[in-house]
Amino acid sequence: MLLRRVAAALCAALALAAVQVAGTVPASAAARVLYYDAGQAQEFRAVVDQGAQIWNSRAANVRLQPVPAGRTPNIRVYADNGWPRTYTTSLGNGRWYMGREAVDDGYYPPRIAAHEFGHILGLPDRRTGLCGDLMSGSSAPVSCTNANPNSTEVAQVNANFRTSVSVPARTFVWVAPATARS
Ligand SMILES: [Zn+2]
Repeated sequence: MLLRRVAAALCAALALAAVQVAGTVPASAAARVLYYDAGQAQEFRAVVDQGAQIWNSRAANVRLQPVPAGRTPNIRVYADNGWPRTYTTSLGNGRWYMGREAVDDGYYPPRIAAHEFGHILGLPDRRTGLCGDLMSGSSAPVSCTNANPNSTEVAQVNANFRTSVSVPARTFVWVAPATARS
């Protein structure tokens, strides 16, 4: 009797574990993996990883991972003294720059990193001026330290990778063209 009860409890525990596995594995198995190379991001390597983690913790359909040795990355990240900017070639592919011009002005580096990854994930600039929007970029106050995409931005990225939408090659610059100093 006791043995049967223990066995029943064990079965219930196993069933629960199976449900949990079933609930998580298909989602991550379906996620499209994009490899990024931060090897040339200089002093911003950690912040690039942080930007990737922000997306990984929110968007279920895509996963940003450091490129393994010997593999061609989907995304290359650089650093220079210009404005942060992204050059996309297609959805999930391209290169972006961590520009010191914005960092020196006081913009929050993790927000810049997550924003530029956002372009690679198919999001355009939306200069709403709102700190709660990741893709508002430099239109939000310099003091804005929100590095998280809002629910609409996350939903858009998930939708992009669910259907592998076609995204044209484009260039996005951190500052609006009218305010760019160079
Ligand atoms: Zn942008």
